[in-house]
Amino acid sequence: MDKVKIFAPATVANVSCGYDAMGFALQGLGDEMFFSKTNSKTVTISKIEGAKLPFEANKNVAGVVALNMLKDSDADFGVDIQIFKNFKPGSGLGSSAASAAGTAFAVNQLLNNKYSNLELTKFAMQGEVTACGSAIADNVAAAIYGGFILVRNYDPLDIIQIPSPSELTATIIHPQIEIKTEDARKVIKSEIPIKTAIAQWANVGGLISGLHTNDFDLISRSLVDHVAEPQRKHLIPHFDTIKNAALKSGALGASISGSGPSIFALSKSTEIANNVAEAMDMVYKNSGIDYNIYVSKISKLGTKII
Ligand code: ADP
Repeated sequence: MDKVKIFAPATVANVSCGYDAMGFALQGLGDEMFFSKTNSKTVTISKIEGAKLPFEANKNVAGVVALNMLKDSDADFGVDIQIFKNFKPGSGLGSSAASAAGTAFAVNQLLNNKYSNLELTKFAMQGEVTACGSAIADNVAAAIYGGFILVRNYDPLDIIQIPSPSELTATIIHPQIEIKTEDARKVIKSEIPIKTAIAQWANVGGLISGLHTNDFDLISRSLVDHVAEPQRKHLIPHFDTIKNAALKSGALGASISGSGPSIFALSKSTEIANNVAEAMDMVYKNSGIDYNIYVSKISKLGTKII
């Protein structure tokens, strides 16, 4: 294979109670990327549309991931990358992760599938270091594996795929305000009371069980975050009103996507997810803040060839 075009999904990390440990991939929102082999043995980025991002390979997460993979595999070719962004960096929807995971997946195609998904996740995590300073796995693992994932452990890296009901549909609102991942991390206290920890891991267990058994009531009861959401929600205008409107419209639960400002809700049908979208729209319509709303099924495939 000399060239490949791929879709790299947007992803929701944290998933309420699964702070820093869970994520899922969206089917209907993501970037497109085009990769072709070159004779130069280097990495070039010849086109970026939809966002202002660095063209220098060592400053763009896509370039960083490709450079590392070519080096590790001792490849006898170079790669040219074209990036078509369909959602903005800094949205809390894994923009850099989409580029990192998309590149890991695509370069692996050019290398005849040399690497496993776990190895691709590790390469993509190096891209996340370029984007936000730390090798976070939840967004990139969701984008590579698809569906819901759990980052059970970092050292050694252990990614668990969680099955989910096919009806499950996400509604996302992205208010166009900037929240720096770094700032969103700073507001989280480094210690939590044992009572809070117990409540949190009990909900994670409930959520995982509910996803496995298609138990929507259990999923709904478990989508409660005692750790990040209470400390971060003040960074997002109208968070409580949006969340209450989503729940009133029938959503199973709602919380902050990644480190925000996007807010996600999960529903048990597209019809309910569309009602949730309308309710979110009503809240933001007169807010004076620009926003986008998306309704999407969970992507079972993650990154894929198109
Ligand atoms: P998100 O909140 O959508 O996950 P991130 O925090 O992951 O956004 O990353 C955005 C940061 O990464 C920006 O500072 C951006 O300039 C940088 N970056 C570098 N390369 C890329 C890329 N290919 N795609 C997206 N962001 C990139």
